[in-house]
Amino acid sequence: QAKHAGRGQAVCYQPGMIEQIAARRQLEQDIDVAIEQRQFHLAYQPILSLNDDRIVGYEALIRWNHPIRGSVSPVDFIPLAEETGQILAIGQWVLEEACREAASWADDQSVAVNISPVQFKSPSLTGCIATALAESGLSPHRLEVELTETALVTDGKALAHILVELRALGIKVAMDDFGTGYSSFAHLRDFPIDRIKIDRSFVAAALTDSHAMAVLRAITQLGRDMHVPTLAEGVETQDQLDLVRRLGCDDVQGYLIGKPERLDVAPMAEKQYA
Ligand code: C2E
Ligand code: MG
Ligand code: MG
Ligand code: MG
Repeated sequence: QAKHAGRGQAVCYQPGMIEQIAARRQLEQDIDVAIEQRQFHLAYQPILSLNDDRIVGYEALIRWNHPIRGSVSPVDFIPLAEETGQILAIGQWVLEEACREAASWADDQSVAVNISPVQFKSPSLTGCIATALAESGLSPHRLEVELTETALVTDGKALAHILVELRALGIKVAMDDFGTGYSSFAHLRDFPIDRIKIDRSFVAAALTDSHAMAVLRAITQLGRDMHVPTLAEGVETQDQLDLVRRLGCDDVQGYLIGKPERLDVAPMAEKQYA
């Protein structure tokens, strides 16, 4: 890799690499401007409880309206922001904004916020969350943080310590994209988790792929046996909804229920999904 080459050593660039580096640097600068000029906003996607047939909360998903490029997907800028450390500032803003907005919702609706592994490993995380809660006045039990497995790949003692700290704040912890990592099951055994979010790849494939179906069924059964509620992500069709209901998932999220939308355009009207 070029940056590891010492003084006087020849560095070979692959075709297109210079352009790639320039594009990344540009994106990094644009993220700085975006943070400063508040070009981000949050979209909210409803979470439907199958047990009591109502919207029990929303997941906050970051959106970037770039002045030139238009809307930029988090998939395209979060990884870079994680590499550069900019995710810390972005993540803090997300936490504060989500808590502030959720504080004006009905008392029985909660907000789920995605936490990057970089934030999770930073010593400032619990402080950031405490600040967001204090400034917004949101009840801690109405905030859920979503961790992915990569966040949990750290030494077991440190992990247990952070999870204890988070729970001491009174918030909930969900495991996002469950089933896609290497040690989802080990983590579930060892650490206190309030909710399993089953990755949408299993939901998408289950009706046509018997192996995906088997995994989906196993995860919901596991959640039941361990008394950890399960949520099926990415439910797009009525057949998928019927399936996850039959399997015993507690909650669902997906385009069938509602797409992520800005609060000011999202009609918070209740629909029926029976
Ligand atoms: P995620 O946390 O697993 O979020 C779910 C993603 O699936 C969202 O994509 C959502 O729009 C999409 N989705 C929901 N329902 C459906 C469906 O029925 N079908 C399909 N095909 N997709 C569905 P989005 O908003 O593009 O976010 C992608 C990822 O970016 C998120 O995955 C999360 O990992 C990350 N992300 C988003 N917002 C934040 C944030 O504020 N902070 C951090 N650290 N990461 C974020
Ligand atoms: Mg999520
Ligand atoms: Mg997810
Ligand atoms: Mg996912």
